[in-house]
Amino acid sequence: MSRNMFKKLIATLFLFAVPAAAQTVAIRAGNLIDPAKGTVSKDQVILVENGKITAVGAGVAIPKDAQVIDLSKEWVMPGLMDAHTHITLQELPGKAPFEAVYLKESTPFRALHGLHNGQIQLNAGFTTMREVGNEADYACSDLKKALHEGWFDGPTLECAGKIIGPFGGQSKGIPEEMGGYWLHEYIDADTADEIRKGIHQNIYYGADVIKLVADNSEYYYTEAQIRAAAEESHSAGRALAVHVYGGPAADNVIRGGADSVEHGFALTDEQLKLMKEKGTYLVGTDFPTAHLAGLSPSSDVLADANKMGSQIIDRLSRANKIGVKMAFGSDTVTGMPGRTRADMVFDYLAVWKTAGVSNADILKAMTTNCADLLRISKERGAIAAGQYADIIAMPGDPLQEIETLRKVNFVMKNGKVVRAAK
Ligand SMILES: [Zn+2]
Repeated sequence: MSRNMFKKLIATLFLFAVPAAAQTVAIRAGNLIDPAKGTVSKDQVILVENGKITAVGAGVAIPKDAQVIDLSKEWVMPGLMDAHTHITLQELPGKAPFEAVYLKESTPFRALHGLHNGQIQLNAGFTTMREVGNEADYACSDLKKALHEGWFDGPTLECAGKIIGPFGGQSKGIPEEMGGYWLHEYIDADTADEIRKGIHQNIYYGADVIKLVADNSEYYYTEAQIRAAAEESHSAGRALAVHVYGGPAADNVIRGGADSVEHGFALTDEQLKLMKEKGTYLVGTDFPTAHLAGLSPSSDVLADANKMGSQIIDRLSRANKIGVKMAFGSDTVTGMPGRTRADMVFDYLAVWKTAGVSNADILKAMTTNCADLLRISKERGAIAAGQYADIIAMPGDPLQEIETLRKVNFVMKNGKVVRAAK
């Protein structure tokens, strides 16, 4: 090799070694919503670089070489969040028992289903989701890894791994000779030590949040057992989410220090007041009545859809009046002909509205409060310098009409436009 050629080679290598200057994106936001305050600021500029927001304000100068995205006629806000999803699960049609999924679907199939549902949700404006179990053998963890590699567009995921519960998971009446095939999705844990071991197992396989199911059976966790779970979760920097409907099991969950009560359909005013006092979140999964009717009949608590639908509205209304912290959670696991999962998740807005929750508080529950519960407030949930650029827009003001969220037509995820406004 001649000296010149060698020089050229070195120069070329050097060229490749120097990273290209990051492209700055400037978003002109005609109406910028701050869901933490329920306010709108006019004619703002948002600068985005390397996936993160670097500046926001009316007087922010747009650099000459920036790519400009014009959302001057739109309402812009941080991406939506859902604190209770099962994107890797869809109940089998035809009123099959819930447990049938375990027999019919493999973990890889469940991960692909999660990717499909996650992309539908992302396109609709949900940029972060907390997958609270029912993901077979850690399908969510693998999906999260693939998204992290950048192989696919998808939402930020927090995964729970296997749901920890007293013997039997959430199955009912499986004959003894069938064995514990619910262990495909659940960890049996009947003592505080078994709960701690289950938490270790989940964290080892990638769990970001710990999910317990407390009252699926006549037997349920004691306050001391919940406290052990909370201690173990918190010492590993994870929140503890507990499925519980009500009664003495819910007393134990709240007193034991869970970060969130999932469902809580039968919570009394006294229990809601205790939650407010302790700062426990309610992730109410406030099902519309029409959705309840489509759930698997194996869940006897949901047997009477109309009665349960009214009970949910009443509980949400009481929680709102008492001032319990609330984070939006959908728990959608069924399908409806001709409708996407995102369409179905937006049906919950009508329930919140009927329960008397203000549009501002609904938006807060879908952003700021979720980010707090998911322990990611410093990274996501607001449009501010230093936050990841998870930004959505729509052609109307959701603070005036909450159903406008169905019209989201722009989605930016980690600074990448995954849906462009038309
Ligand atoms: Zn659920």
